[in-house]
Amino acid sequence: MKLPDGIKCVIRASDVSSFLFCEHQLGKERIRTAEMNKGSELHQEYEEESDSMAGEAISPEKAKDLKNNIMIAEELVTSIYGDILLIGKPDRAVRENGVWTVEDKKSTNSRKEKVFENQKMQTYFYCELIKRWLNDRAKYNWRVHLQDQKTKEVYHSEGGEYGENERQRLLWLLERIRNIMLGEDRALHHGNPKKCEFCSVKDCGQKLG
Ligand code: SF4
Repeated sequence: MKLPDGIKCVIRASDVSSFLFCEHQLGKERIRTAEMNKGSELHQEYEEESDSMAGEAISPEKAKDLKNNIMIAEELVTSIYGDILLIGKPDRAVRENGVWTVEDKKSTNSRKEKVFENQKMQTYFYCELIKRWLNDRAKYNWRVHLQDQKTKEVYHSEGGEYGENERQRLLWLLERIRNIMLGEDRALHHGNPKKCEFCSVKDCGQKLG
């Protein structure tokens, strides 16, 4: 991929999530597990549902007026942070009365009523992506829905404001990922053999256990 002038690396939403699981996953090929395939299936259904709700294309000009309610559903969004190109496809993001709600749906078979840090951070990434793209003055909220893989029931949701604290944590993380991608820093090992056991990376020289 030829990068635009001034851009040194690309960070995708999925990089943020996998980096928080294990820093050594960055840039490594992963095997598709049955759980991932099932997750994609449900994602596809969510995408179709969102497609049917999608309105006209959004432009930064239209977005400037906070009175305009707008929705992004499964659209590829790109924006720039320093010398990093950020890329992501938010499941669904709606701006109503000047407030964005950025949603992400995660399928799971564990039924654990807990949204993990990497799942939250991926949603912060989408908030930042849209904020930078549209440069609007709206308030941003995030929301993660956990969906049972078998029944498709959304059994737990968590959310909150994408405020300055969340933003600073995300930007710190983006810079760390950038530095590792560019060889200016080193990935750290989590030291947890259990994580390696459940990891879908194909060939990892750092595997424990
Ligand atoms: S095998 Fe272990 S060290 Fe390697 S990427 Fe997976 S979790 Fe990380």
